[in-house]
Amino acid sequence: MSLNINNLHVKLEDEDKQILKGVTLEVPAGEVHAIMGPNGSGKSTLSYVLSGRDGYEVTEGSATLDGADLLAMEPEERAAAGLFLAFQYPVEIPGVGNMTFLRTALNAQRKARGEEELSSGDFLKLVREKAKTLKIDAEMLKRPVNVGFSGGEKKRNEILQMAMLEPRMCILDETDSGLDVDAMRLVADGVNALRSPERSFLVITHYQRLLDHIRPDVVHIMSNGRIIKTGGPELAIEVEQNGYGDLLAEVG
Ligand code: ADP
Ligand code: MG
Ligand code: MG
Repeated sequence: MSLNINNLHVKLEDEDKQILKGVTLEVPAGEVHAIMGPNGSGKSTLSYVLSGRDGYEVTEGSATLDGADLLAMEPEERAAAGLFLAFQYPVEIPGVGNMTFLRTALNAQRKARGEEELSSGDFLKLVREKAKTLKIDAEMLKRPVNVGFSGGEKKRNEILQMAMLEPRMCILDETDSGLDVDAMRLVADGVNALRSPERSFLVITHYQRLLDHIRPDVVHIMSNGRIIKTGGPELAIEVEQNGYGDLLAEVG
């Protein structure tokens, strides 16, 4: 599935603050793109706007999924269309078992697509199969969603959610702070296991380390609400070595 973002301008709904100032980028089907950039450049805002979160106003530009107007869709419609967003701070849902959560999410998606709900037997079979492939302990499936999970377990869970929903466009917004090397490895292995010619990824990250394990096809650098440079994986290495200073100086 391809994602096309064209000249996207976004401001805060309640404040006169422009955050995205003309983001243009294209992720073709089957490719993995990374967005890097200094803190405060608007990376998370971009992922929130694509997911349909409240509080932002699109003032100009467009975003389409395989040509369909993403910004006109309700959040559930975006998920049904194949969009998945994994966030920096996974929500804890006390009292709701992980299995129940996964089943509800999956069935909501099926319903929005006009498909029948999975029977509990079929669901169990599917979740066990996915957990096994991703080497996820079945015990984690019984616990309340993310409650008391370690950083690594939350990441595993995120990847499991992604595997269950079989999205075609995955957006991951990762602050690497708080993610140890093992957790980062989990995310990278999960993404790599789910890579396919139909599925695309937009991986947002602060540091190059994550990209050591996920070899992105394309790297975009974002600063002050715009993509200021696009290149190959070598761009991430350049940033790791030299910081953003030179790139920012180039655009003035
Ligand atoms: P990044 O993810 O690249 O660090 P963000 O998208 O989180 O950047 O933030 C971009 C800018 O927008 C920052 O200056 C941030 O303070 C501001 N911003 C984002 N959301 C809000 C909000 N809800 N209220 C006030 N400022 C916000
Ligand atoms: Mg930030
Ligand atoms: Mg962020």
